[in-house]
Amino acid sequence: MISLQNSRDGLDRLREECGIFGVFDNSDAVALTALGMHALQHRGQEAAGILSYDGTHFKTERRIGLVGDHFSDENTINELSGNMAIGHVRYSTTGETALRNIQPMFAELNNGGFGISHNGNLTNALTLRRKMIESGSIFQSTSDSEVILHLVSRSSRRRLIERFIDALSQIEGAYSLIALTNKKLIGARDPLGIRPLVLGKLDGAFILASETCALDIIGADYVRDIENGEIIIITKTGLESLKPFQTQSARPCIFEYIYFARPDSIVGGKTVYEMRKNMGVQLARESAHDADIVVPVPDSGIPAALGFSQESVIPLELSIVRNHYVGRTFIEPTQKIRQLGVKLKHSVIQSQVAGKRVILVDDSIVRGTTCVKIVKILREAGAREVHLRVSSPPIIYPDFYGIDTPDQSNLLAANYDLEDMRRFINCDTLIFLSLKGLYLAMGCEERNVHKPQFTDHCFTGDYPTSLTDRASGVNAEQISLHFPKTDE
Ligand code: AMP
Repeated sequence: MISLQNSRDGLDRLREECGIFGVFDNSDAVALTALGMHALQHRGQEAAGILSYDGTHFKTERRIGLVGDHFSDENTINELSGNMAIGHVRYSTTGETALRNIQPMFAELNNGGFGISHNGNLTNALTLRRKMIESGSIFQSTSDSEVILHLVSRSSRRRLIERFIDALSQIEGAYSLIALTNKKLIGARDPLGIRPLVLGKLDGAFILASETCALDIIGADYVRDIENGEIIIITKTGLESLKPFQTQSARPCIFEYIYFARPDSIVGGKTVYEMRKNMGVQLARESAHDADIVVPVPDSGIPAALGFSQESVIPLELSIVRNHYVGRTFIEPTQKIRQLGVKLKHSVIQSQVAGKRVILVDDSIVRGTTCVKIVKILREAGAREVHLRVSSPPIIYPDFYGIDTPDQSNLLAANYDLEDMRRFINCDTLIFLSLKGLYLAMGCEERNVHKPQFTDHCFTGDYPTSLTDRASGVNAEQISLHFPKTDE
């Protein structure tokens, strides 16, 4: 039997990606950035940072913890100060957990100060890093994002924006970036637009953010999405859009709709909540079963369960309660305590489920940790039958674009067939949404096999970019990513 391991941090959950935010020309830039980051907290809860420019100096504050832990007090906001600011919330999808990896990252270049916030994951960062270390570069962090700063710094071009484009032309993978100089706020999205990035406006000031929920929190108007392969340069004189790379069709990550993005966000013109609900509707069409109640795994399973319930005309009950205050620090990193993880997080309203046939709806199965534990507590509470329905297809292939699932041996569906998974989870029946159903839910008649509309490699193995680091076998240890060598 294949053993499924916990994620690298020892917790029985995955890490998410990152959230980025930026404001140009507003006297409350820092406070607005803190608020925007707060709205993006679901994209990363490990660390948060802000870089601001006050007309003379760049200032930065980067802290481990939640946004509200450090960026809600007036002193911090006032000390940062300035009319321009960028922010970042992170989960460490690459680079170890350390203060030096917290973004925004900043460097003093020939052209002046330059800071970046990066969401996504580069697939050739280790290869580039190795080359640069060999030719004398000194890296300050273990994060893939620092590679971008080095490439900008080393570029032989003259103007900052040319150097930035030069840097982007050398990186592969997923990136949404917000950069800050003393005169500009710059937004950029990789040629496929894998990770989201939107443009907003508040009282004449331009805002850039990972998701529209970060515009809503500050009352900013949504202007538009930054397009795939687009670079937006915001200065006092307005906004300029560049498309320096060969045009490609957009392939946004479909997992943003399944799990990552907040349900109230509009990503690529589609309201995430509605897409999740559609997935539930489609799932019900594909996997009807007699039952007494439909129960979501909170929180991300709720919209799909609602769609399932409406389509199947089986009543929805919120019979699982999630404790939102289970923080990282609360869980001791021992195997015994780790096993308690989901019990600490979820409990069942017994009177709701005792003797009932339950359709349990979750948005995805990755390692299988969550559903195993939820099915167990439903049964302990007396559920007569548990039919698990998953509103996305089986995740079979690892991700290299910012979701922490790089090791295929950890993916339940990569190692078990459907019946083995059902037995492992101990549910009565198990059905996943089909790939076709997922595309239907997203409003596509079908997946275009020649030009897929979304990045969906988790389900299909169809990676939309080169995976240079993976193909060349370069890994962190080989290039002293964790600084173990001395003078040999
Ligand atoms: P697992 O417990 O490993 O099967 O992970 C699946 C559960 O985690 C589901 O309840 C999802 O809502 C949630 N989930 C899916 N993808 C991620 C991710 N990248 N990071 C954190 N949680 C996730």
